[in-house]
Amino acid sequence: MTDTPHQNLAIIGHVDHGKSTLVGRLLFETGSVPEHIIEQHRKEAEEKGKGGFEFAYVMDNLAEERERGLTIDIAHQEFTTDTYDFTIVDCPGHRDFVKNMITGASQADNAVLVVAADDGVAPQTQEHVFLARTLGIDELIVGINKMDIVDYDEDRFRAVVEEVKQLFNQVRFDTEDASFIPISAFEGDNIAEPSDNTPWYNGRTLLEALNDLPAPEPPTDAPLRLPIQDVYTISGIGTVPVGRVETGVLNTGDSVSFRPSDVGGEVKTIEMHHEEVPTAEPGDNVGFNVRGIGKDDIRRGDVCGPADDPPSVAETFQAQIVVMQHPSVITPGYTPVFHAHTAQVAGTIESLDKKMDPSSGEVAEENPDYIEAGDAAVVTVRPQKPLSIEPSDEIPELGSFAIRDMGQTVAAGKVLAVSE
Ligand code: GDP
Repeated sequence: MTDTPHQNLAIIGHVDHGKSTLVGRLLFETGSVPEHIIEQHRKEAEEKGKGGFEFAYVMDNLAEERERGLTIDIAHQEFTTDTYDFTIVDCPGHRDFVKNMITGASQADNAVLVVAADDGVAPQTQEHVFLARTLGIDELIVGINKMDIVDYDEDRFRAVVEEVKQLFNQVRFDTEDASFIPISAFEGDNIAEPSDNTPWYNGRTLLEALNDLPAPEPPTDAPLRLPIQDVYTISGIGTVPVGRVETGVLNTGDSVSFRPSDVGGEVKTIEMHHEEVPTAEPGDNVGFNVRGIGKDDIRRGDVCGPADDPPSVAETFQAQIVVMQHPSVITPGYTPVFHAHTAQVAGTIESLDKKMDPSSGEVAEENPDYIEAGDAAVVTVRPQKPLSIEPSDEIPELGSFAIRDMGQTVAAGKVLAVSE
């Protein structure tokens, strides 16, 4: 573990605009190419007398792994700059991107939007920007990529920047701070070093912009919310629920409550990385022990919070959703599975309250008969089993969910209000 602060970074943008290439380039420029790829190269160099370690080599190997369906993908790659340790979280297009992004470990703090200079804004550019706003991404860095293809033309760069700004306006994304950088992921322009090919640009390189991102603030002021991933029995200690502190602080001696199981007690011990600690903060993965709680009293999907400010359990909740993919239409009565934090609960969409224009966020229709892929809507949901969930403007970490059905992420959403 280093003391360098950590950032989860999403790379978003239309297919083929250069997201994977950019990730490969960032790994290459920061000397963060995965060890096994370097090792592989060393072997090949010995056998075949291959030359220097090149960017193309990194790309070929990352691509090959992707084709073989290995989990080592551009997602979950890591690189370190002067300021931060970055983890690339799942990229859109990756099968479980939406689900992972909003339900857990891979919550992105910031994002790089890749827009190809030749294509400009394309359908997924719009979709991902809307998603980024819905999911509360703090800051976007915009890489106008493939500048080499448009001969590093300044006018073309400006035109694409205008298109992207218009899109931001449409979806009311407050982007005064967004930086726009003319790059070529393939050639390396303005990634680590200012490029001679763009003498008209004197702004930051992509790595400088990444270094300048604001540090994510741990939500220690919010009440404790600790979704339970597993429950173990450990001899000599007893029942040990484990999970990640999403918000607030867990201290030994605290009085806590688990919802929806509705049991509670006093925290006796907290363990992190096999060491006993007196307190745990957001982002910490902990196991802990609570006086008087047995293994069958609590389960995965419970959320631990302070006894005097426990997580709410929804009888129904109203949520804003974005339908990503669905083979037909969604009508009231539809009962897919809701994945929220560590819980998976079937829920019935009881009513379709409003349909929104996905690009403006304006109400397009009250009480629509159906919604379909590409639509954004406000819906009311009745979980079929007790579910602990909270309005996302109060506790964002407990207010987002994915809707899954038929092995796919059908929709992503955030909770607007909860009726207990
Ligand atoms: P993704 O689908 O967004 O991940 O896009 P890829 O990274 O797979 O890139 C799609 C294609 O565009 C590939 O053939 C890349 O080699 C090419 N490409 C990506 N970035 C650049 C660039 O900066 N310049 C040029 N000329 N080609 C690029």
